[in-house]
Amino acid sequence: MHPLLSEAHEAYRLKVRKFAEEEIAPVAAQLDEEERFSPELTRKMGKAGFLGINIPTQFGGQGLDTLSYIIAVEELSRVDGSQAATVAAHNSLGLAPVFEFGTEEQKQKYLPKLTTGEHLWAFGLTEVNAGSDAKGVETKAKMVGNDWLINGSKRYITNVSNELTLGITILAMTPDENNLDIPTTLLVENGTPGFESKPMKGKMMWRASDTGKATFNDCRVPLNNVLGQPGYGLKNMLKTLDSGRLSIAAMGLGLAQGAFEMALKYAKKRTQFNQPISKNQAIQFKLADMAMKIELARNTLYNACKLKDQGLPFGKEAAMSKLYASEVAKEVADEALQIFSGAGLFKNNPIERFYRDQRILQIGEGTSEILRMVIARHLGV
Ligand SMILES: Cc1cc2nc3c(=O)[nH]c(=O)nc-3n(C[C@H](O)[C@H](O)[C@H](O)COP(=O)(O)OP(=O)(O)OC[C@H]3O[C@@H](n4cnc5c(N)ncnc54)[C@H](O)[C@@H]3O)c2cc1C
Repeated sequence: MHPLLSEAHEAYRLKVRKFAEEEIAPVAAQLDEEERFSPELTRKMGKAGFLGINIPTQFGGQGLDTLSYIIAVEELSRVDGSQAATVAAHNSLGLAPVFEFGTEEQKQKYLPKLTTGEHLWAFGLTEVNAGSDAKGVETKAKMVGNDWLINGSKRYITNVSNELTLGITILAMTPDENNLDIPTTLLVENGTPGFESKPMKGKMMWRASDTGKATFNDCRVPLNNVLGQPGYGLKNMLKTLDSGRLSIAAMGLGLAQGAFEMALKYAKKRTQFNQPISKNQAIQFKLADMAMKIELARNTLYNACKLKDQGLPFGKEAAMSKLYASEVAKEVADEALQIFSGAGLFKNNPIERFYRDQRILQIGEGTSEILRMVIARHLGV
């Protein structure tokens, strides 16, 4: 057992692993091939309690700690990146800001609906001219009577364009008393006139996860749909991303673990020159390096989670975990594929999907370049 984990954490890991192997593994390749988001599977993940892991039970969540949530994402990713993405985006980007910055009324209104698996909530920061540079957001909202009037668009948004989407939290620029733009987060419910979303197809990875574009054309939401205080939107979003980075790190760790297990099994079974390829030192060294990197990624991530659970600063450690685990995922998936060689290049082998799925992890929620800048900032340089 990992020293930072309790017996309850390990029991939870087994529960999620069982679900992932029984419910997700059999359908993952087909959903990937068809580039299809599955509402049925999402509902099942909701029933299993994976959508609302950190949300208190009074709002319908599981009331578990950060480590439990991270273990869940890790175990889902060990089997399939797409389903892990649906769960991670909903928990850390959809639910978390509503829980953390929402009024009691907003929490009562949305959270119980968002912890069942019947609905998902999205998080919209990214725009055509605002990717790494969140300050470049061009979506505008202004007060008109009792409403915010929103115009603009968001792209590459997870969970925004499927039949379970209940709404989205967006960052928009709103005018302050001097008519200067200030960043504000707003809640927009699906079905609000002027709000539209549609899937963005043709992804190389996470093909069974919903990624969409959202547009706001004279979209009106009530004034009390502001999340937190006007002007604090960017701060809230960046705080949300600190925790979101733990999720991406967990996806990297889980994906690397899954790829490693597949490669280890194959290396022991595949015979060339009258012996298993695992008898060659070249293959043994690859496996040893993979195991070592996974171990280090796991320790760094669990340490960051422990800091968060203890209410201590964890931004630097979250950035380090995300950067490191996403790069470990890339290296391990690549070496695993090398061990499979020809057999790894066909779609009937899950390593082919893992090799594609790892690529987003060095991009989403802060590219590796931006993460290095974040860490450097924590170092005071
Ligand atoms: C499948 C998927 C799901 C996503 N889900 C969401 C979501 O739910 N919500 C959301 O808001 N966004 C989401 N995103 C967006 C994601 O977070 C962005 O793609 C990411 O932040 C990078 O932005 P960009 O793609 O515009 O790249 P850019 O910002 O255009 O960067 C391009 C390159 O320039 C580099 N670069 C930029 N600035 C600097 C600099 N100052 N110094 C050095 N290098 C720099 C970057 O590192 C990168 O290599 C998703 C993206 C994908 C692909």
